[in-house]
Amino acid sequence: MKKRISVLGATGSIGKNSLDVISRGRDNFEVVLLGAFSNRRELDKLSKEWPDAVCVLSCEENGMQKLSCAIADARADITINGISGAAGLWPSLAAIETGSDLALANKETVVMAGDLVLRRAKEKNVNIIPVDSEHSAIFHLLQFFKKEDNESPIEEIILTASGGPFRNYSLQEMEKVTPNDALAHPTWNMGRKITIDSASMANKGLEIIEACAFFNLPPEKIKVVIHPQSIVHSMIKLCNGVLYAQLSKPDMRHPIHDALYWPRTTKSAFETLNFDSLTLEFEKPDMQKFPMLKLAWDAAKMGGLYPCAYNAANEKAAAAFMENKIGFLDISRITGYVLEEDWNYSGGAASSGSVEAVLNADREARLKADFFIRKYI
Ligand code: NAD
Ligand code: MG
Repeated sequence: MKKRISVLGATGSIGKNSLDVISRGRDNFEVVLLGAFSNRRELDKLSKEWPDAVCVLSCEENGMQKLSCAIADARADITINGISGAAGLWPSLAAIETGSDLALANKETVVMAGDLVLRRAKEKNVNIIPVDSEHSAIFHLLQFFKKEDNESPIEEIILTASGGPFRNYSLQEMEKVTPNDALAHPTWNMGRKITIDSASMANKGLEIIEACAFFNLPPEKIKVVIHPQSIVHSMIKLCNGVLYAQLSKPDMRHPIHDALYWPRTTKSAFETLNFDSLTLEFEKPDMQKFPMLKLAWDAAKMGGLYPCAYNAANEKAAAAFMENKIGFLDISRITGYVLEEDWNYSGGAASSGSVEAVLNADREARLKADFFIRKYI
């Protein structure tokens, strides 16, 4: 029987890559819902290609309500969430409520409300399969290792990071970079927001928090190593001291393919690695140049609503940088200021268990970030 698939964020980078994977496996899949924000022309084009899918633009009047109804009506077996930013949280929850598995690219879902989302998924017997390449690598590596007596064999997770376009810049040079400089990612071709986040390493920061939640590990067990070629997608170190890594070309269709066919491993037609001319380098991240890393570890340690505040402050600051309102290094300054506030004021860890508390903290952190951004203009 064909798997019914909803694709949220269908006009974006993840959405398009997902539809490419699906179109190569038309015998296995049926697209039942295509969601996007405002790109009507692109969505119309997709609707011609996938005539059986319901199409929803959520920027339109009652768009959110329409999307919510469409998610409920879709009866999807699996929902791909390729929406960018915090806006991806409620559609993830809505899909889980319908009992649909989730192929999750929207890392903000787990960063903002990891406990809540994972708990609800368990209650609804829903599988969440990460699509973020690092977490996909770890998720699939872990399929090979059995837990003994419920003890996880993982000692450490090592997330790889390309280092972005400013890896070799000095701190002085980074003060002056423009949005266009930050949008020139050396290895991955992605949406604008995640590309800016890759340049500041906020993306890796979000992924540290994402990994803690997904794999139930404390922040000190999540390490980051710079790997400019983006071939090794991440590694796990087991209690026996041995490291296991997943390698492939930097092509998001790999993790998407793996998520959509999971738990099966099936043939794909994507280009594989050629060892004839392959150099793999690894280096330590420069914590001075990339303060978003330390802020993420701190937010993960504080727990509760701190990760949500980290994400909201960074979203605001990254948007302000893209609009040339603040400098590149101000992104981490503003996020740092916002995180100096007390985000666990009303019980913290406990309150991050409710959607209202998460959305409140998201709103509050955006207001605080706006306040600091105005100071810089
Ligand atoms: P993108 O900007 O290319 O696309 C975003 C999509 O989300 C678009 O279709 C847009 O219409 C839709 N969207 C935006 N706001 C919306 C809203 N309020 N309601 C409904 N739809 C909305 O972004 P992307 O690069 O594809 O990234 C999507 C998500 O996947 C992000 O969370 C990102 O961190 C994650 N991710 C992306 C990549 C990648 O290679 N692009 C890799 C790993 C993780
Ligand atoms: Mg990633």
